[in-house]
Amino acid sequence: MSNDKFTSIVTLDFQYAHRFMHWPREAKHLHGHSGLLTIEPEDTVDPVTGFAHACKDGFKKAWEVCDHFHHATLFQEGDPLLDAVLTVYQKEGIINDPEHCIPLKKIDHPLAWSYPEYRIVVTKKVSTCENLCELFYELLKDKMPIKKITYRSSSINAASKEFKQEWFLNGSSRRSKCMTGVNQAIDRLACHNPGYHCQTLQTVFWRTPKK
Ligand SMILES: [Zn+2]
Repeated sequence: MSNDKFTSIVTLDFQYAHRFMHWPREAKHLHGHSGLLTIEPEDTVDPVTGFAHACKDGFKKAWEVCDHFHHATLFQEGDPLLDAVLTVYQKEGIINDPEHCIPLKKIDHPLAWSYPEYRIVVTKKVSTCENLCELFYELLKDKMPIKKITYRSSSINAASKEFKQEWFLNGSSRRSKCMTGVNQAIDRLACHNPGYHCQTLQTVFWRTPKK
């Protein structure tokens, strides 16, 4: 592996409520957190900008997703509290109204889907730090080449996970050679390999092992 790569560090924090539906201890009750999400994209340094990955750009891309979790309530799929809260929100008109709140587009992913008008996110799995690392990777992996994600819900609870990526082109090539021929060659190499997904992000190409 080459040693010319740097890891940029993008951090976001947001406040949310959730509970652990099948956990017998105190966390089965609805409670709140200030979550700290750290995303580490890996790249070579762009010789013009001097950045491996501009952190503010990473923040903006990540916030498009994380805003759904900010001042939101997370329910695991099947939680009976979801319908109860939705009923009260609807009855009382407690909505993410565009006059006072930042509008959101719906998240529609197998691991999480949202009710943007109510700032509610339903997660397939219980929203532990471990599962949130996986969730944010899945929701953000097409936006930047993420090497590692760390999620901290408190000074005690945190988890991290590294993600393997295999780049086809080196840094300068993948920035400058966004040509049809290159794309087709990469498509032939990656997309026709049954063991890999092919992902395309502007002029950036990489592959990750299929699960
Ligand atoms: Zn909690």
